[in-house]
Order: sequence, then C-alpha cells, then structure tokens
Amino acid sequence: YEPQGPKPIRKLTKDVINQIAAAEIIHRPANAIKELLENSLDAGSSSIKITLKDGGLKSIQITDNGHGINKADLPLLCERYATSKLQKFEDLQKLGTYGFRGEALASISYCSHVEVITKTKNDGCGWKANFQDGVIIPSKPGGPAEPKPTAANDGTVITAEDLFYNMPLRKRAFKSPSDEYTRVLDVITKYAVHNPHASWSCKKAGTSLPDISTPVNSTVKANIANLYTPSLAAELLEIPLTVLQPESKLSSTIRGWVSNANSNWARKGGWLLFINNRLVESNKIKKAIDALYTAYLPKGASPWVYLSLEIDSAKIDVNVHPTKSEVHFLNEDEMIDGICGAVQTALAGANVSRSFSVQT
Ligand code: ADP
Ligand code: MG
Repeated sequence: YEPQGPKPIRKLTKDVINQIAAAEIIHRPANAIKELLENSLDAGSSSIKITLKDGGLKSIQITDNGHGINKADLPLLCERYATSKLQKFEDLQKLGTYGFRGEALASISYCSHVEVITKTKNDGCGWKANFQDGVIIPSKPGGPAEPKPTAANDGTVITAEDLFYNMPLRKRAFKSPSDEYTRVLDVITKYAVHNPHASWSCKKAGTSLPDISTPVNSTVKANIANLYTPSLAAELLEIPLTVLQPESKLSSTIRGWVSNANSNWARKGGWLLFINNRLVESNKIKKAIDALYTAYLPKGASPWVYLSLEIDSAKIDVNVHPTKSEVHFLNEDEMIDGICGAVQTALAGANVSRSFSVQT
C-alpha cells in the first residue's frame, strides 16, 4: 500500500450528470410509464393508450389525445429542467399538474431512443422528432436535426425504445419481461381507478386484446370492477367525501373505497393511495390502516384500500424526491387520526347495517 496524493477534482460533464439522473428517476419500465401517463393527464387527455414490447424493455408507446406540443417547443422537450408547468419556486404551492421538474423526458431520452409525434389542434399537420441524450437528432444519419412534418391526430405519441441500451448493468438486472409488464399494469390500473374520466388501454404489441381497457367517463367503482373483479367492487364500502379536520381552516378531504370486514379479497390485499392526485407511498398511513383492520380481518389478511386525499397545498411538500413517490405534509399525526376515523366510520357503518338486518 503506497500512500497517494489527492486526485484533482473535476466537474462531471453534462452528459454524465444527466445519465446519473436518468438512472435515478427511471428505475424500470413502470417508472417511465408513470411519468409518461402523468404528462398525458397534464395535457388534458381523455384517452390514453399504451403498447409495450417485452414489458416495456424493448419498447413503450403511449398515445394520448391531449393538447399536444407546439413545434417551437420541441427542441426543449427533452432538455433537463425544461418545463411548461413551473416558473417560480413559489408556484409549487399552487401546482395543478403532476409534472414540474422537467426531468422525465430528459431522463427517458438519456436511457432509450425517443420518438415524438405531436399535433396541437391549431396545427395543420403533426410534427415528428427523434431525441437522444436531451436533444433532437436526425431521423436518418446525415439528415437535419429538426422536426419533420407528418400526418397525425391531435395529441401526442411518444415511443421509447431499447430502455437502458446504454446501461448494461441495469439492463442485465431485468430477468423477466412479464414481471415488468405486471408492474406496468399495476401502475396503469391505479391511475385508471383514480382517473375514470379518461379511457385507458394497455396491451402487448402484436396482440389485439388489451389487458386494460376502460371506457371514457367511467366511474371509480366501475373501473375497480373492470380492473380488479366485480365481486371486489360489490363488496367495497364507500368513504364519501369527508373533511378531515373540520376545526382547522386549511381543510383537507378524504374519499375512497375500502374492503369490508369479510371481503374474500382481503388475502391479496391492495393499496392505492393518492395524495393531491399523486400516487404515493406512505408507510405511516398504511400501517395505521392495517392496524385498524386487525380488529376485523383474520390474521395475515390485509384490506383492499383506495384512498384519495386532498391536502391544502400550503401544507404539503411534493418536492421530496425526484420520482415524487413521497410527499411530506404538516400535522401528519392528526391527519392520520382523521384518515383512520373516516375508514372506521365506513367499517362501523357496515357493521351497524348488518346487525340491523340480523335483528329485523
Ligand atoms: P414536466 O412534466 O415536469 O414538465 P417532462 O419532462 O415530463 O417534465 O415534460 C416536459 C414538457 O414536455 C412538459 O412540461 C410539457 O410541456 C411537454 N409534454 C410532455 N409530454 C407531453 C404530452 N403527452 N402532451 C403534451 N405536452 C407534453
Ligand atoms: Mg412530466
């Protein structure tokens, strides 16, 4: 062992920085899908269609009928930290969109081959562009690096091919395309339950029968019946829109559907938590709800729970993690008490009506 002097400190190049960021944000096809479908929802789409090859590893295609992208904006589309949704840091307080970091398409373009076809309703034709590492590239070698006119419907079609082609280690970690496909279906299913106004479809390329297919202007309950099972939907208890902390001025609300005490679905369990329309993880809330159900369910069984919370945006921090899968909010403990109260009321109400029907 020979002691060595310090090595010089150097700045990473933009490409290395962006590749590191991409690997952090896009872990697997399901992350890419989540980002892409959130963009489609942000664009006001009422139809979102997804087609996958090899569970998304070979290709992901998402077609929406949203407002599209102006041709003039295409050069910035995949540039990191370029967004149409946020200008000032303060805007985070009243954000009405899923996106705001301007990182998703950049990241996807740093770990796959991206093609975008888009048309706004004022455009006479659509525009197509290919992207690599944040910038537009020629569609043919030697051609111009600029959008090309093309026939298109209003809306946007984004195709990402050969995910992680440039990250061999990550690519090798994916053993099972069908496992990835299952994860993708899970993400889309949850968004479709939460956004029943839009029609959703997802299929494997080359098959005609979609694995997910919901009609436009559906309902939460109809989509649960469609995407899980009719018997689960029939057994669910509704949590009507309820104000969580009536005494506070910054009122938060909860609504949702939860399984009852004897749901035979309980064994499989299910957990869909949306906070301000974001699909998030919260171990604290999950633990509290699971604890509540231990009084009702046999040991080892877990409930099926879909909760949608709206928390005053002044009380919630959505910018905790690049994937936005985590949020922090104030008065967490009171909030959790309120959430449990609402679920408890639904469960107790169901018990009451059952005991009434036994008595009469
Ligand atoms: P963010 O959503 O955080 O703004 P993205 O990288 O996901 O960042 O997208 C960059 C920009 O590209 C968005 O701000 C939006 O203007 C545009 N965009 C992306 N996807 C779509 C889409 N499906 N329809 C319309 N515009 C889109
Ligand atoms: Mg986005």
